[in-house]
Amino acid sequence: MNNKGFTTRLVHADRVLNQPENGAVHQPRTNSVLFEYKQVEDLVDIFQGRVAGHAYSRQSSPSIDALQNMLAQMEEGIGALTFATGMAAITTTLLTLLQSGDHIIISQFVFGNTNSFANTLQRFGIEVTMVDVTEVENVANAIQPNTKAVFVETIANPATQIADLQGIGELCQQRSLVYIVDNTMTPAFLFKAKNVGASLIVSSLTKYVAGHGHVLGGAVVDTGLFDWTSFTGILPELRKLPVQAQALTQIKKKGLRDMGGCLTADSAHAISVGMETLALRMERTCNNAIELAAFLNGHDKVEHVYYPGLASHPQHQRAREQFKMFGGILSLDLKPGLDCFKFINHLELVLNATHLGDTRTLAIPVAHTIFYEMGAETRARMGIGDNMIRFSIGIEDCVDIIADFAQALEQI
Ligand SMILES: *Cc1c(COP(=O)(O)O)cnc(C)c1O
Repeated sequence: MNNKGFTTRLVHADRVLNQPENGAVHQPRTNSVLFEYKQVEDLVDIFQGRVAGHAYSRQSSPSIDALQNMLAQMEEGIGALTFATGMAAITTTLLTLLQSGDHIIISQFVFGNTNSFANTLQRFGIEVTMVDVTEVENVANAIQPNTKAVFVETIANPATQIADLQGIGELCQQRSLVYIVDNTMTPAFLFKAKNVGASLIVSSLTKYVAGHGHVLGGAVVDTGLFDWTSFTGILPELRKLPVQAQALTQIKKKGLRDMGGCLTADSAHAISVGMETLALRMERTCNNAIELAAFLNGHDKVEHVYYPGLASHPQHQRAREQFKMFGGILSLDLKPGLDCFKFINHLELVLNATHLGDTRTLAIPVAHTIFYEMGAETRARMGIGDNMIRFSIGIEDCVDIIADFAQALEQI
């Protein structure tokens, strides 16, 4: 299968990797919390790590294993863990690998809740520096003797700044820093984070991967590129494991098992079915987005369009080099004096809703909602104006999306 295309591999992954019983093409949903063993020795072997197997579903189950295998294959990693949500994946990963006294560099353009979680990390004695990751120098200048990791996203939400993913990857390699890439915005079909040296890929499966606004989930994939022998945060008792297994085992035991943010079997099933059409939906979404961007860019009621596919975007060339297509997030500022609430209320097809990566096109005024809590100063640093509207472009027929924008603009 390794020489086959992205979608071919995905639609056959469950059947081939996991080989469910009776010729099933989907891994069945195993809703059992517990797993029984006839011989107590077999259960003991699992507890003591001598044999792989399932004991209790907070930690592992066949349904969850199946999805983890698919995700690891999709990202070409050595293993994956899944979580109840994207935030559970991010928080669990950081809380289990970092400790008090460590320092992490985080993009100043990260997802609002990740930004908020950075404050929680500081309450636990983990130092955080937030920098503009469009320039690798900013990351290099923020490195301290206790820096352990760098955390970036690919395309920022909502202002679409694009991190210097390649440059930061090289820097992390030179300085032996764990490079954590949140790849939610550009899932593997658009961007292979492993190719820029990511150590860990975290992502919200809730968004494009599952795709249909019907299930929450998150994941972390270890790409196998980072040499964990140089990482001081691995617990002494895990050092006896093969070095590649150490980080994921630590996240699994100290995070998934002890903190408990596990994915359900039902959710794993919904995600794996949604994921089969990831490339088809992404392609359609990105094509719709670029057409819409071109329409809006010339419109006399639109002040500014934020979309990496536009030649005027500050990191357009970088986006071209790094990503297969330009993603599905598009934001805009209306001309001064025009009311963004009025515009959104006139949209008929486009939903006024938070969330992104859905099959449906969604609109939200960002300063008043998802980025409200952080305050005006942080918003300004993130490039978010008071009238900015963010759209997550869906897979509807493009003419219908453009017609809806046209009529709503007409009415303001
Ligand atoms: C939505 C999102 C998350 C959080 O994911 P949930 O599944 O909603 O918890 C994390 N990072 C990015 C970039 C996101 O867009």
